[in-house]
Amino acid sequence: MIRQFELVERVKAYDPGADEEAINRAYVFSMKVHGAQKRASGDPYFSHPLEVAGILTHYKLDGASIVTALLHDTVEDTLTTLPEIERLFGPQIARLVDGVTKLSRIELQSDQSKQAENFRKLLIAMSEDIRVLLVKLADRLHNMRTLHFISDPDKRLRIARETMEIYAPLAERIGMHAIQEELEDLAFAQINPDARASLLARLAFLREKGGDLIPRITDQLKRVLAEEGLDAWVSGREKTPYSIWRKMQRKNVGFEALSDIMAFRVVVADIAECYRALGIMHSRYPVVPSRFKDYISIPKPNGYRSLHTGVYGPERQRIEVQIRTKEMHDVAEFGVAAHWSYKDGGGQPRDGRQYRWMRELLDILEHTSNPEEFLEHTKLEMFQDQVFCFTPKGDLIGLPRGSTSVDFAYAVHSEVGDHCVGAKINGRMMPLRTVLNNGDQVDIVTSKAQTPSPTWERFVVTGKARARIRRFTRTQQRAQFIDLGRSMLQKAFKAEGHDFTEKAIDGVLKQFKAQSADDLYAFVGEGLHSDREVLTAVFPGTRTSKSTNVVPIRRKKKDKGSSVPIKGLIPGMAVHYAGCCHPLPGDRIVGIVTTGKGVTIHTIDCDTLESFADTPERWLDVSWEAAPELVDSRVGRIALVVQNEQGSLGALSTVIAKNAGNITNLKITNRTQQFWEMLIDVEVRDVKHLSNIIAALRATPAINSVERARG
Ligand code: MN
Repeated sequence: MIRQFELVERVKAYDPGADEEAINRAYVFSMKVHGAQKRASGDPYFSHPLEVAGILTHYKLDGASIVTALLHDTVEDTLTTLPEIERLFGPQIARLVDGVTKLSRIELQSDQSKQAENFRKLLIAMSEDIRVLLVKLADRLHNMRTLHFISDPDKRLRIARETMEIYAPLAERIGMHAIQEELEDLAFAQINPDARASLLARLAFLREKGGDLIPRITDQLKRVLAEEGLDAWVSGREKTPYSIWRKMQRKNVGFEALSDIMAFRVVVADIAECYRALGIMHSRYPVVPSRFKDYISIPKPNGYRSLHTGVYGPERQRIEVQIRTKEMHDVAEFGVAAHWSYKDGGGQPRDGRQYRWMRELLDILEHTSNPEEFLEHTKLEMFQDQVFCFTPKGDLIGLPRGSTSVDFAYAVHSEVGDHCVGAKINGRMMPLRTVLNNGDQVDIVTSKAQTPSPTWERFVVTGKARARIRRFTRTQQRAQFIDLGRSMLQKAFKAEGHDFTEKAIDGVLKQFKAQSADDLYAFVGEGLHSDREVLTAVFPGTRTSKSTNVVPIRRKKKDKGSSVPIKGLIPGMAVHYAGCCHPLPGDRIVGIVTTGKGVTIHTIDCDTLESFADTPERWLDVSWEAAPELVDSRVGRIALVVQNEQGSLGALSTVIAKNAGNITNLKITNRTQQFWEMLIDVEVRDVKHLSNIIAALRATPAINSVERARG
């Protein structure tokens, strides 16, 4: 066990400004609250947080990270509460400990490996501060190092699998190669002990046969580089059993065919020297074809940079050589943790090919003077646009940020979405529109009787949910048109003394290009054909008298698109035009929702809107469809003052007719000896058309004033 003063000394060695007193207090506090708890190894429990802190000193992490490591299991495993941590160690430490605790609480309950990727993303998304993730990785590393003390083989296997699928790739993702490699090998020992043992035996045999091959090759590489004037640090090692195993699997070859089991690292001063060292290697030794990779020009997504090549080395052995600068080497081994130790600059600006968050890390690095500030502001930006939620069975569902329970339901299954009536989020019944957070467990309540509601479309964010809701709305609309069309026809037939029969309708389907009777009913209901048309088709002798007084939903047969030329409406909801302001296409408009009545369209300057000022939830942002010429004509109302003299009314109607307007209603509101005041309703295309008519009227001598009527 590391002793208290040792831990403090280690931190002080790389971070002289670290809060020594806080580390001491955390040490004592953690030891006290873990008390007599024991690890599976029989060691006092406190040895675990202490070792985790020790691992992090290896990565030169700041004082706050070390304090967090010491305290990381106190809230989960002792009676300590988070407010207590905050009182004793301040809000920053409390936030970090809370972050680690939350990560420890979420567990992958279903063991489908396709879930692993989502689970990793969840862990990253939940670690708002990178230190949380680093402490969690060190925690897992120490647990893996002591895994063999756990007696239950199933538990050991489960932890090993989780490590292999979740934590090792996570370490890789943030570029912590050393931790990744150790985690993988410890997990491999558990998951496939036989394969690992035979690989180790094979390696031992080769080592014996070749003598001390690695030190010999290392020395020779160093000498060759020195002869060319390059001062390089060279180290060699056998690859780990797991990395050999993975290569055997990937390339589908046996161990015999896998000759490059040794890797050598050449560390030089700068990038120019990297390429010089590469040149020396390639001119001195035969090159293994297609093994060269330039990760300096094109770094790996996790920020890894190096030159890789394969040569037949000094002992005629196939070897892999990785060439890099000291900084690249540290980044390769320590990942994001290395950036922090380069805080004093000296590192070269990296190019922009890494992940955005890596660049942001670097940016913070370059513009912050102290390490605490650097790590504190290092928010993990990856996956911040996604949320990950659990099903009751423990499956993980990834959704775009802002997703609601309805999106979740549709992501689980279309049927679940179509029939959802409610959602329990973390055990509590919540409205369907509730926006989900990372780690939420969502239990969708369904009912066979429920169908998608058009209003859902206003809050869902996933395309799948939206498409399903729309499809349903369309089907539902068609059903309404069918009902309406059928009852219109029944009424029309009855009015003429005919029986309404399916058979009669079937006889004229072709004529209307309808596939079925329902099709034809829908045409009539939608207003594409009138009831009279159908009636005269069935009974050609029928007089063309007035139509029945059932008003079809759409009066004119024109475009087959939406029946209302307004964007932003809720599908399936009835639309009215306000009588107070007579909105016209081109007017700026707003919709007011009235339960049970539908949407009423007002012009945005209508006085009536004042009475809805206190109920913004009823306001609907709507606008006219772009092309007014496709739109049915609408009625505009104008107020005029006309001189009471011969011919003035004639002039009025002539001007309107000349401008292609059609008077549908006229009402005299006031009559004096000199003037008539009147309101006229004119059928126009749009607001521009109405403005033209108003302008033309104003230019008419017999007319004193013309205004658009309001209210
Ligand atoms: Mn722990």
